[in-house]
Amino acid sequence: LSKATRAIKLGMMPADGIGREVLPSAQRVLQSTPGAPKFEFIQLAAGFEHFQKTGSALPQETVDRLKNECDGAMFGSVSSPSHKVEGYSSPIVKLRKELDLYANIRPVVGVRGTKDDEKFIDSVIVRENTECLYIKSETIESTAEGQVAKAIRQISEKASTRIGKKAFQVALARAEMRAKQGSSATKQGANVTICHKSNVLSTTDGLFRTSVRSVKENDKRENGGEGLFEQITMDEQLVDSMVYRLFREPHVFDVVVAPNLYGDIISDGAAALVGSLGLVSSVNAGDNFFMGEPVHGSAPDIAGQNKANPIASIRSAALLLEYMGYPEPALKIYSAVDEVIREGKYLTPDLGGKSTTSQVEEAILKKLNP
Ligand code: ATP
Ligand code: MG
Repeated sequence: LSKATRAIKLGMMPADGIGREVLPSAQRVLQSTPGAPKFEFIQLAAGFEHFQKTGSALPQETVDRLKNECDGAMFGSVSSPSHKVEGYSSPIVKLRKELDLYANIRPVVGVRGTKDDEKFIDSVIVRENTECLYIKSETIESTAEGQVAKAIRQISEKASTRIGKKAFQVALARAEMRAKQGSSATKQGANVTICHKSNVLSTTDGLFRTSVRSVKENDKRENGGEGLFEQITMDEQLVDSMVYRLFREPHVFDVVVAPNLYGDIISDGAAALVGSLGLVSSVNAGDNFFMGEPVHGSAPDIAGQNKANPIASIRSAALLLEYMGYPEPALKIYSAVDEVIREGKYLTPDLGGKSTTSQVEEAILKKLNP
C-alpha cells in the first residue's frame, strides 16, 4: 500500500523513568499535528525496569515486531545502572545492532530570538555508531612496571564511507528544509565538516578522513558527472580545535561528521550550548529505518513528578517525521516548540519555569491547533 493510504506504524518504547512521561507527550503531538500522516502506535516493552521484572531488557517480541511490522520507532529513555548488573546490557545498543542503525544524528539547535546571533547554533552532528573504540576490545596485562591496558580502535572504510554519505544526505535535506522555510535567517550554505585527529592518528583517522572525502567524488561518478552533493561544500577540523570553535563560534558549523568517540563527546558538549538536556533530540538512522530518541536519560531524580521537559522527546518525534519523509508536519512541530520556548510562559523547571510536563505539552498542542 502507498504511504498515503495506510497508517504509519510506529513502535513506541517508553522504557524507564521520565521516558514514560515524555514519550506519551510526543505521541499526542504526532497525532495532533496538521498534515501529519495517520499513525498506528504499537506499544513495545524495553528497558531496565523490564529487565528487573523479566530478565530481559529487550524482549525478542519487541525486536521482531519492530522488524516485521513497524515503519519506524520512538524510544523514551533508559536507566543506566551505575554498577555492573549481571546479565544486563543496554537495549539501545542492541536495537542499533538489530536494526542496523549505524548513524546517530543529533541536531543542536537554539531558539532564534533568545540569544545573540554570534552564539546561535543550528548544527547537526552525525556520529558513527558501530565502531571506533566502542567495539570494546580491551586487554590488560601485567608487566614488571605494573599493569598495562590497551583498547583497539577500529575504523573501517565501509563504515566511514557509509557515515560520510549519511552526512551529505543530512546536509542536503537541511538545505531543502531551509528552502521550504524560506528562511533568510539561515544564510549559511550546506557544508559538511569532517571531525578527526589524523595529525596524530594518521592511519585510523586518516582512513576516516579519506573515506568521507571520497563520498562526494564517488557520488559524482555514479551520477555521471552531475552529483547530488555538488552544492555541498566540505571542510575538516581537528577534534580539539573543533571543541574550541564549537564553544567560541558555534554558528559556523552546519553538519559535522565524526567517528564514534569524538561524536559522543562533541555532541554532549554541543548540547550544553542549547541550555538543557531536556531540549536535545536525536534520531538513530539506518538506510531504511529510523528511531527517534531524546538525548537525555531516565532522570530518576525527577521521574514520576510531571516535571520533565517533554520537548526533547517531541523534537525527536518531529525529527523522525522529517527522516521518514514528512518535512512539512515536522516543520510545524519545530515552530510550535520554538514559539512556546520564545514566549517563555510555559517552561519546565530545567528552563527556569514552573510548568508541568502536561502544561508544556498542552501549550505546544495549542500552537499546532490554535
Ligand atoms: P540515566 O542513568 O538514566 O542517564 P541520569 O541521572 O544520568 O540518569 P539524565 O537523564 O542523563 O539522568 O539527566 C541528567 C540531569 O538532567 C538530571 O538532573 C535530570 O533531571 C536532568 N534532565 C534530563 N532530562 C531532562 C528533561 N527531559 N527534563 C528536565 N530535566 C532533565
Ligand atoms: Mg545520564
